[in-house]
Amino acid sequence: MQKKIIIIGAGIAGLSAGCYGQMNGYETQIFEMHSVPGGLCTSWDRKGYRIDGCIHWLMGANPESMFYETWNELEAFKGKELLYHDYIMHIENSEGKKLIMYCDIDKLETHLMELSFQDSEVIRELTDAVRKFKDIHTASKDESLVKYSKVTMHDFVQRFKDPFLKEALLAFAPKGNSVFSLIFQLAIYNNKDACWPVGGSLEFAKGIEKRYLELGGKIQYKSMVDEIIAANDRVTGIKLTDGCVHTADFVVSAADGYSAIFEMLKGQYINEEIKALYESKKVSNTSIQISLGVNCDLSRYPYCINMMLENSVQIGGVENSQLLIKNYCFDKTLSLPGKSVVTSLIFTDYEYWEELYKNSENYKAEKKKIADWFICLFEKKYPEAKGKIEVVDVATPITYYRYTHVWQGAYCGWKAPAQKIPNVLPGLLGFYLAGQWTQTTGGLPTAVITGKGSIMRICKQDGKNFLSKCS
Ligand SMILES: Cc1cc2nc3c(=O)[nH]c(=O)nc-3n(C[C@H](O)[C@H](O)[C@H](O)COP(=O)(O)OP(=O)(O)OC[C@H]3O[C@@H](n4cnc5c(N)ncnc54)[C@H](O)[C@@H]3O)c2cc1C
Repeated sequence: MQKKIIIIGAGIAGLSAGCYGQMNGYETQIFEMHSVPGGLCTSWDRKGYRIDGCIHWLMGANPESMFYETWNELEAFKGKELLYHDYIMHIENSEGKKLIMYCDIDKLETHLMELSFQDSEVIRELTDAVRKFKDIHTASKDESLVKYSKVTMHDFVQRFKDPFLKEALLAFAPKGNSVFSLIFQLAIYNNKDACWPVGGSLEFAKGIEKRYLELGGKIQYKSMVDEIIAANDRVTGIKLTDGCVHTADFVVSAADGYSAIFEMLKGQYINEEIKALYESKKVSNTSIQISLGVNCDLSRYPYCINMMLENSVQIGGVENSQLLIKNYCFDKTLSLPGKSVVTSLIFTDYEYWEELYKNSENYKAEKKKIADWFICLFEKKYPEAKGKIEVVDVATPITYYRYTHVWQGAYCGWKAPAQKIPNVLPGLLGFYLAGQWTQTTGGLPTAVITGKGSIMRICKQDGKNFLSKCS
């Protein structure tokens, strides 16, 4: 008899698990609390403007990339136009000095040398390292690249003589980051492995949902899982918040790790390591996203500007000294002709917003205050937009939580904790975790790979050969 897998969550990890479950002959059903697929990989519509809430760089677009095959198996790029920018962003200081982070490493090297020839030695060292970085697997075994994982950006920029380059590089990669992660990021762009899928994040997720449904999978939306049920330490199914019980041979949770382990399973299947991991709260950043719908064409501006602010500003308890403004005129599907969508993602503190949310008036007032501050700076930089703003939308860390239950609003999962991260739980059979909370860093490639991994484990448990296409 065909065995059944229940999957919690229709984010990218859940959809991936669903597709591979179907490919391997299981009956699968996804329960998703929301009404659309994608989870954090989403977009939303406001008065004819489509606001994107996720993808800045989608990794795995290069056929040579380690993630390409998996995206391809899910037909994630099928029928999609993939767009590759020439540069990652413009970084500008308050005096108008500008560094353009070109994707092409030769172009970036020439530009950096033009800005500061006196730094040519360290510039060449950096660009040579980027040229050497083909993929993360080989790079993490190459000592000449691995050595940069022990050097922080703070220490690295000290080797530059030009004060603007020092400042601009730190605006691109924060001082606590390793130089290895800077090299990795530049290499991804140089290798044409980072793209923008035209249509945006929700459309991208819908492409994988389509594949899942075509494979015969079922999704039940507006269905929040309240409890994962186990008998004699083996999962038997799930209970929804409306009380309905669904049985299965296996359950994969592709929902937030904290809620699966500590809420749906009530913390019954943990050990000291898991407890310490979650108590460490070593989670990635969270942000506030301000989005505008503007009734004018801003396509003459760079698509992404990182402005170094003259005076830093406190946003929800976090000091920000730069402001990233992204305009989506490069994707004509997001607004009507002659109109523009603009967003800004600013780091903030989850607990600050959690406290503020207890009083809805204060919460709304703070959102408005930040939006007004942003609009003031925005209109100075883009004067033709003055008086033409038709939509103002502010998403806070609470929005991320309300929308997907992502723990601490940390939309990229862990911040590289030292502890081991579980994908199964001690003493519980038939249960698997997938998604960004099962790896050291989050992101869409992590989600898709861990969804696939959960089905590989089920197949192994069942003594079956894993298939990555339909037989
Ligand atoms: C602003 C922003 C920018 C980002 N930029 C990038 C980027 O440029 N590149 C990149 O690769 N990644 C980026 N990410 C990160 C990326 O979106 C996430 O790492 C990835 O989407 C996580 O996927 P997931 O499937 O693991 O989890 P999620 O997307 O969190 O999916 C979990 C799903 O489970 C559902 N769920 C939760 N609890 C329950 C329950 N009890 N019952 C039923 N359903 C439940 C949720 O509704 C959700 O649909 C960004 C994220 C954000 C928010």
